[in-house]
Order: sequence, then structure tokens, then C-alpha cells
Amino acid sequence: RKQLKDKNKELKQIAITDKLTKLYNRVKLDESLLKELKRAKRYNHPFGLILVDIDDFKVVNDTYGHLVGDQVLKELSRILTHYTREIDICGRWGGEEFMIICPETNYEGISKLAELLRHKVESNDFKSVKKVTASFGISEFKPTDSFDSVILKADKALYNAKHAGKNCVRGLFKN
Ligand code: GH3
Ligand code: MG
Ligand code: MG
Repeated sequence: RKQLKDKNKELKQIAITDKLTKLYNRVKLDESLLKELKRAKRYNHPFGLILVDIDDFKVVNDTYGHLVGDQVLKELSRILTHYTREIDICGRWGGEEFMIICPETNYEGISKLAELLRHKVESNDFKSVKKVTASFGISEFKPTDSFDSVILKADKALYNAKHAGKNCVRGLFKN
């Protein structure tokens, strides 16, 4: 019985973990975002999210190969988990994109965290590649937000960060 219980726990962990980076996967991100949205609406608590997209990652793969690209994804993931709080949900959104859900955090807190992460990525000495940068889009939950709209805001903000020249943080406050 104990073995079965342990095995179940292990399987549950696997189901919510990204294999390469060991961050949470999309399943867990979706689940957590829904939970935060409900909590925020019911108790009027702030929360926000950060979308992170590695800059010119295709060039990294093309120049150094796919395996080095994978190594960069892992190293960057470690930076994200290291500098976020225990309560933040840090996951791989897909490809070279990551999402950080920040419960109980207002816009100012989210911006500060995003700027810190941007700086840590920029100043990290990545193996083989040395310098890697990322762009950040942030959004703060508003009572009228839905699951989709809060992501869409962060996505638009990320788009703005890319168009502002990359390696920067942009935010979208409005609905
Ligand atoms: P931008 O600055 O506009 O974000 O440019 P980009 O090159 O980062 O973006 P683009 O979407 O053109 O390329 C993303 C690349 O990420 C292409 C894809 O092969 C690579 N990629 C996605 N997932 C993985 C992965 O698991 N491992 C590796 N090595 N590469 C990956
Ligand atoms: Mg991308
Ligand atoms: Mg990219």
C-alpha cells in the first residue's frame, strides 16, 4: 500500500513537470492560473504574471546546435527558480517561453521581479554561449479579467518588449 502511494505521488509529479527543465509544465500552469484567478476574484487579492521569451534563441540553436540550446534552457530555468519566491509558480509555457505566476503581488512587485530576472539572465555566464538575454511581458490581474485576457495582456506586453529592441521588461496595466 505504501509503495502504491509513493508511486502515485511520483506519477502526479511527472504529470506536472517539464522533462527538460524540471520546471512545472503547461498542465500545472493552467491549473495554477485558474486557481489564482478564482482566488483573486473572490477575495480581491492581487496577482500577476510574467511571460519570458529568450531573445534570438533560434540563432543559439543554429550556431551551437540543439544540445547547447537545451543546456541554455536548463540554465535559464535555474535562474528563474532561484530568484523567484517559494509561492511563485514557475513553469515552461512552451519552447523557449516561460511563465511565472506571482500570487499576492501587485504591479510594482511584478515589475521589480521581472527586472531582477532580466538582469540575472543578462549577467549570467552561460556555458558555451556566454551571453543570453530574454524579453519580459508582465500583466496584473484586474477584476474584469478572464483566464484568457490576463495571458493576452502579458503576451501583448511581451510583443512590445520584443519590438522595443528585446532584453527589456514591458507591462500592460489596462484591460
Ligand atoms: P525572438 O527574439 O523574436 O524571440 O527570436 P527567437 O529566435 O527566440 O524566436 P523563434 O520563435 O524564431 O525561435 C524559437 C526557437 O526555439 C526555435 C526552436 O527550434 C527553438 N526551441 C524551441 N524549443 C526548444 C527546445 O526544447 N530545445 C531547443 N534546443 N530549441 C528549442
Ligand atoms: Mg518564442
Ligand atoms: Mg524567443
